[in-house]
Amino acid sequence: MVSPLSSYQRPRALEDALAALAAAPRTVLAGGTDYYPARVGEPCDEDILDITALAGLRAIEERPDHWRLGALATWSTLAGADLPPWFDGLRLAAREVGGEQIQNAGTLGGNLCNASPAADGVPPLLALDAAVELSSLQGREILPLADFILGNRRTARRQDQLLTAVLVPKPRAARAGGHFVKLGARRYLVISIVMVGAALEIGADGRIAAARLAVGACAPVARRLPAAEAALLGRPCDERLASWVQPVHLAGLAPIDDIRASAGYRSDVALTLVRRTLSELTARL
Ligand SMILES: Cc1cc2nc3c(=O)[nH]c(=O)nc-3n(C[C@H](O)[C@H](O)[C@H](O)COP(=O)(O)OP(=O)(O)OC[C@H]3O[C@@H](n4cnc5c(N)ncnc54)[C@H](O)[C@@H]3O)c2cc1C
Repeated sequence: MVSPLSSYQRPRALEDALAALAAAPRTVLAGGTDYYPARVGEPCDEDILDITALAGLRAIEERPDHWRLGALATWSTLAGADLPPWFDGLRLAAREVGGEQIQNAGTLGGNLCNASPAADGVPPLLALDAAVELSSLQGREILPLADFILGNRRTARRQDQLLTAVLVPKPRAARAGGHFVKLGARRYLVISIVMVGAALEIGADGRIAAARLAVGACAPVARRLPAAEAALLGRPCDERLASWVQPVHLAGLAPIDDIRASAGYRSDVALTLVRRTLSELTARL
């Protein structure tokens, strides 16, 4: 039911969308897969800015030192995109977001802006050291993803800004890859109990030159594990790598009891999944 007090705009040009956001607060609508379920049975009394006609925000592009993933790239597009093994973690996450219909409609930008602690896109992107591009009539702002998501459903986006892209820097090492592992209460179509994203860069000497690990659903915001990452640096990239991660390295997580799992179970699983992610990744690299 559309309230007579609300309005709906679907601009085709980014400038028009940014002008609409600058003029008045509007709820941004992308794939709607978070928006609609949160409003079932409620009248629509918000002013909507539907961004799905902004074709330029769907593109995935390689630039000299980074990749630019348009905010409207859907999970299906990402899963099938011609991207290097560095993106394997994000690709695996894409195949875990709901079922195919959700993956066809749901977007990368929507997942990040919705800022759920269980958003599957966040850990693999933190592991890739991604940044978000926020656009407004005042210009473009680039913010590390870790600084963009502030808490459960809270981001640093101003009301006049649109998330227009996610930027992923290229790895320095030629041998590099990413991975993602998710645990839910069943195998598919499930909200995460814990998920882990990882990215490793291997030096010419076969040792870990850079390691990034991120755990989701174990704190209001997915978190990197700097102590575990430091413990991996300089180690040989072999089947023993996972064993260097110890419980103390996960001390920064703050899991809660909820309908899906207890805090204690989440802590156990987080360690197991971090080690599994590393084992599976080192076997591939
Ligand atoms: C059945 C079902 C299963 C699901 N399973 C999963 C799952 O397994 N894992 C998971 O992570 N998620 C899951 N989701 C959630 C959802 O599909 C994803 O988070 C999806 O990526 C959201 O994208 P969207 O384009 O649909 O966002 P929308 O619903 O359109 O928007 C989400 C929020 O982001 C804002 N927004 C969207 N795009 C922008 C932008 N470019 N700039 C500024 N603000 C913006 C909107 O205003 C809104 O607040 C599921 C949803 C459903 C319905």
